[in-house]
Formats: sequence, structure tokens, C-alpha cells
Amino acid sequence: MGKIKKIGVLTSGGDAPGMNAAIRAVVRTAIYHGLEVMGIRQGYAGLINADFIPLVSSSVSDIIQRGGTILKTARCEEFRTPEGRQKAYENLKAAQIDGVVVIGGDGSFTGARLFNEEYDIPFVGVPGTIDNDIYGTDYTIGYDTALNTVVQAVDKIRDTASAHDRMFFIEVMGAEAGFIALFSGIATGAEAIIIPEVKGEERDLKKILFDGNKRKKSSNLIIVAEGDEEGGAFAWAEKFKNEYPDINIRVTVLGHLQRGGSPTAIDRVNASRLGSAAVEALLDDQKSVMVGLQNDEIVLVPFSKAIKLHKDVNRDLLTLVRILSI
Ligand code: ATP
Repeated sequence: MGKIKKIGVLTSGGDAPGMNAAIRAVVRTAIYHGLEVMGIRQGYAGLINADFIPLVSSSVSDIIQRGGTILKTARCEEFRTPEGRQKAYENLKAAQIDGVVVIGGDGSFTGARLFNEEYDIPFVGVPGTIDNDIYGTDYTIGYDTALNTVVQAVDKIRDTASAHDRMFFIEVMGAEAGFIALFSGIATGAEAIIIPEVKGEERDLKKILFDGNKRKKSSNLIIVAEGDEEGGAFAWAEKFKNEYPDINIRVTVLGHLQRGGSPTAIDRVNASRLGSAAVEALLDDQKSVMVGLQNDEIVLVPFSKAIKLHKDVNRDLLTLVRILSI
């Protein structure tokens, strides 16, 4: 203890509701422990351009309920290069910043890990991404809010699907992971879900929807994760239309509305806990680690694991979708 006097905080990668609650927790916990805090704007681009602003307790007033991120976020190619990271180091040194909290996804943690292999200013990560696809934490900040946004939207689509006896293919976010699709599918009583983690027979829609003694339903909702290898909702709908020209098929892509909005209570609480824990990890001389939540406990997970290991969906939940949609 005692080495760290001033810390920086940044948000990086895709924005997620609850990032502001995490920033607030970082700032207030740091001040509580007698530290100074600098906000770094636009993610790693702000490190390279020395876009720093001092943050005090009142700087983070009235933001816990707001979506987006007051520090802005960005994708930054230059941080992928040794020269870019060197500039970042020089700027941090010049500003006398002794440690950095990075709120972002696995790309952001990859950059942070590389930086910590090269330089002695510790970086600690807070998982912030709506996809929930980070190994080592049960939940990422933003996931619960995005999920609830999807559920509200799908419920509305169910009303019109049912009124017109239509089949809807609904595309949700999840570039490489099907958490949003799977959980929203269960929560809305979807007839089927298509996610990258499901292969072979389990994605045979004809069988899932029409086989054997299946009840003929008036409406069918199929939730498709955007990252699916066979294409998104439009590609699936096209295939289906060709085979079943009599079915009334529609497509909805929910898109960016899934990223916005006021964070749910769960996201605010998780963000508050994780942001605060990240500052305490820096004070405990930790580096190159992510703070996570496992079974409602705060844990520290090395970046190396959080980045490399794959977080799988719960296979029992896939079976549940099948059972409950008979
Ligand atoms: P999301 O999951 O929401 O997309 P993310 O953190 O994974 O968030 P990325 O765009 O993958 O988002 O990464 C954010 C930033 O992290 C990149 O713009 C880049 O600056 C840095 N970064 C990503 N990968 C690397 C890498 N291999 N080396 C150095 N920096 C990296």
C-alpha cells in the first residue's frame, strides 16, 4: 500500500449500460481511499493523446442511472502497436498516474495485458460488455439491461405475430456468443433460438418447429444471434421462405437499441461492486487482472485467463427451450 496516489479510469470497446455506474464507483472509492482520479476520454485513444480530465466526487453525480459513458469510448488501432503503447506510457508517467482501471471487453483486456507485459503501471479490468461473453465472471456490466431491452421488444413482436399468425426471425446482438439470444428466448417463450454455440441437429429448425406431434402454433418466434455462422435473421428467413412459401414470415433486427437505455438495478449494483473492487485491487498491488463476480463473490481473474478461455452457455438451458416450446 502507499505506492498508488493517482489513478486513471477509461471505458473502451463497445459501450454498455452501467459503465457510468462503474466510473462513479471507481471515482468515489478512489477518493474514499485518498487517491486522485483522472478520467481518460475515448478509451485507449485518450491514453495516446493525453486526453485526461481530473474527476472529483461531484463529477460523477447524477450519472448512475444514465446509459452510455461520460468518458466516451473508442476503438483505437494505434494501441495495438508498440509505439502507440509507448506513447500511452509516457503520457501516464507525465501525468503521474500510477494505475489504470479499464472498463471494457476482451479486446480491451488484451491491450491492457500487453501493456502490463511491457510497462510497470498496473492495469486492472472491469468487465463491461452487453454480450456477457467474458470468462471468469458470471455477469458483465450491461448484459442485464440489454437482455431486458430485448425481452420488452420481443414481447411487443409477439403481440403482432400472434395477431397475424406470423413467424418472426428476430436478430439480437451477440457477435460470438449467444447469451442474449438464449436468455431472451427463454424469457419470451421463443419457439427456437439460433446461436453460434449450437451445432448440427440442434439447429434443425424444421425439426424443432414442425416435427412429429408438434402443436400447430399461431405464431412462432425464432431468436437469432447476430454472429451466427449461417448468417443473421434475414439469411435464415430467406431459407425458410423458399421451403415454406405459405408461411407468413417477417424479420426484425433489434440493432443498436440494445446498447442504450438506463441500466437495470442489477447492472447498477454489479457495476458499483466491480468498479469499487477494481480500485481496491490496484491498492493491493494487483496488475493484469480483471475483477469478476462468481457466485455473488468478487474474484480476481488474470487477464490471460479472461481473454483466452471460452465461456460456454449453460447447455441445460438449451434443452429447456426445447422442452418449454412444445
Ligand atoms: P466489446 O466486447 O464490447 O467489443 P472490446 O473491449 O472487446 O469490447 P475491442 O474493439 O475488441 O472491444 O477492443 C477495444 C480496444 O482494445 C481496441 O480498439 C484496441 O485499442 C485495444 N485492443 C484490442 N485488441 C488488442 C490487441 N491485440 N493488442 C493491443 N490492443 C488491443
